[in-house]
Amino acid sequence: MYSCNGRIAIRPNLDSMKYYSTNKSVNEVSLKEAVTKGLADDNGLFMPERIEKLPESFFDNIHQMSFQEISFEVAKKFFGEDVPEADLKEIVYDTLNFDCPIQHVNDNIYSLELFHGPTLAFKDVGGRFMARLLGYFLKGNKGYVNVLVATSGDTGSAVANGFLGVEGIHVYVLYPKGKVSEIQEKQFTTLGQNITAIEVEGTFDDCQRLVKTAFLDENLKSALTLTSANSINVARFLPQAFYYFNAYARLREKRIAEEVVISVPSGNFGNLTAGLFAKKMGLPIKRFIAANNENDIVYNYLKSGSYEPRSSVQTIANAMDVGDPSNFARILDLYGHSHKAISAEMKGYRYSDAEIREVVSDVYHKYAYLPDPHGATGYKALEEDLLDGEVGVFLETAHPAKFTETVERIIGVGKVPLPKKLAEFMKGEKLSVSLGSDFEGFKKFLLEEV
Ligand SMILES: *Cc1c(COP(=O)(O)O)cnc(C)c1O
Repeated sequence: MYSCNGRIAIRPNLDSMKYYSTNKSVNEVSLKEAVTKGLADDNGLFMPERIEKLPESFFDNIHQMSFQEISFEVAKKFFGEDVPEADLKEIVYDTLNFDCPIQHVNDNIYSLELFHGPTLAFKDVGGRFMARLLGYFLKGNKGYVNVLVATSGDTGSAVANGFLGVEGIHVYVLYPKGKVSEIQEKQFTTLGQNITAIEVEGTFDDCQRLVKTAFLDENLKSALTLTSANSINVARFLPQAFYYFNAYARLREKRIAEEVVISVPSGNFGNLTAGLFAKKMGLPIKRFIAANNENDIVYNYLKSGSYEPRSSVQTIANAMDVGDPSNFARILDLYGHSHKAISAEMKGYRYSDAEIREVVSDVYHKYAYLPDPHGATGYKALEEDLLDGEVGVFLETAHPAKFTETVERIIGVGKVPLPKKLAEFMKGEKLSVSLGSDFEGFKKFLLEEV
């Protein structure tokens, strides 16, 4: 900082973090631009130019720190140059106002429960963090920013609940009529306030096409400020590193282990990639396990070295039904596109629906722990992969009650009780706008409504 004419002139912060595109054919941008844009102009994914190590003193004391305290230290390494400390602290503490415990399942296997947030799934973390960070960047803006999001179920609820009540932002959630479960639907259609749910006569692909076409439409772009809350957004992606540190801290606190194998039920690979960032920041993770359902594109890549995306197939772990995982571009970038380096860092497993059913049933009946169908893949991969003396943690990515019908049918012991938060949603009244799947109708609605 320097002064001229007695006034303080604020020098642009030369140290602020820049974000480059994985396709590397556009210039680097600021955090604010990366968050408001979502995707780079060359269709690449944004990556921070630096991944900073946390100091040894942090790891010495981590077992005495809370989830919020740990996450704030990690957040400063990502966002500390761009967001003042007090604001960042408020965003982190507001996002993570719930527990993230580890539970013992059997022998040397623990579950990290990421389902104690508002919609009972790990996407709450990124959804809320992004909403608050975008709200911070838009503070003082005139008019509304409109967030458009297409959902096949779970993303919509995490984003809608994350943005609920954030000033200056209105969210439109597009979902396919009759193709999301009642529990999922209630979580984003009953909120009101700044959240509008749009029930589209069509499929998830139709919803996605409507959103993508809107971003390209010149009339809409000049009339409205539009942005997306896509899962590849850095503000949704990076905060997922927080809970890996918490897993380690809680193991250390209980004197269980100094080093850990982490298994991640994976679809779009955002969650696992955030774990790779945590490891690069110094977290002692021995190796990662990528657990897939029948959408086994990354499993095949790890085996063969060739990446062959294809259409997704439907499974009972449907949040992992992804045929061309977006975040794989980030993994390639992190390891210089080296198959050897990537396979040294992680192992792959894949499970059919029949296998997933068997795991849910076995774990429940043998160990009195009920995993959801996604978490079950993570559990099973650890059971197969862990060596004597190793300790493993799988990410339990959603509460089993979010998949009641599937889970109840598998374990055959009557009703799985709904947690209070879900029961509250079920009492709410569904408010949604019905639209066809044609773009003109959607456009007219936006122009009239907004
Ligand atoms: C989104 C989701 C996943 C997959 O996470 P990715 O980051 O896409 O790999 C796994 N389980 C549940 C319950 C999810 O909602």
